[in-house]
Amino acid sequence: MNDNHPESSPWAIPVAQVATRPGQSKAIDHDFPAPDGIGDEVIGIREGADVHVDGSFDSIVDGLIFNGAVTAPVTAECSRCLKPLSARHTIHVTAFFPYAPDAHEQRRGKGRNDEEVDIIAGEEESDDFYPLAGNNTFADIEALLRDNLVESLPLKPLCRPDCKGLCPQCGIDLNEEPDHRHEVADIRWSALEGLKAKLEAEQGGDADGHDAE
Ligand SMILES: [Zn+2]
Ligand SMILES: [Zn+2]
Repeated sequence: MNDNHPESSPWAIPVAQVATRPGQSKAIDHDFPAPDGIGDEVIGIREGADVHVDGSFDSIVDGLIFNGAVTAPVTAECSRCLKPLSARHTIHVTAFFPYAPDAHEQRRGKGRNDEEVDIIAGEEESDDFYPLAGNNTFADIEALLRDNLVESLPLKPLCRPDCKGLCPQCGIDLNEEPDHRHEVADIRWSALEGLKAKLEAEQGGDADGHDAE
């Protein structure tokens, strides 16, 4: 984000008409490009895909509160059967955009350096705080979208909760062929059964011989 030209960001929302006017509200109903870095090949949101934001910025004394629904197209593959999945994914987001300290106040100093460090440290602890840009005239929602969408993605996406996955031997989709079995496994098993029977027979013979002595 370039703070000298905050309006050049595709995620910058002009908020000058509501900033520092407590009680004022600005509605947002708009598509934004998905930021990069949301998810991976297994599950994610393609960079640049349309992310719909429907919400509002409400002005309070020390900042703007964003409240809204964020809807994005998620592409994934089932973590068991690897089937490609795609779904519209909606999350509810609440975030706070505190007003940046007044530029003149900052220049005057006032020996407030310690306090400012504390404020910055506090902001790092919470993902839900985002700074306003351009002297409180723009709210840039790139980080807000990335943070909240990344957090909301399931770790192990499934095509359905009871997905049976793939056969570990041949990779066939067990959802499509629930009765799938391998004859090879059966043959091996009967070979073992045969060996067991042979060993038992031999042991039986020895025992009989021992008894006879
Ligand atoms: Zn599946
Ligand atoms: Zn198989």
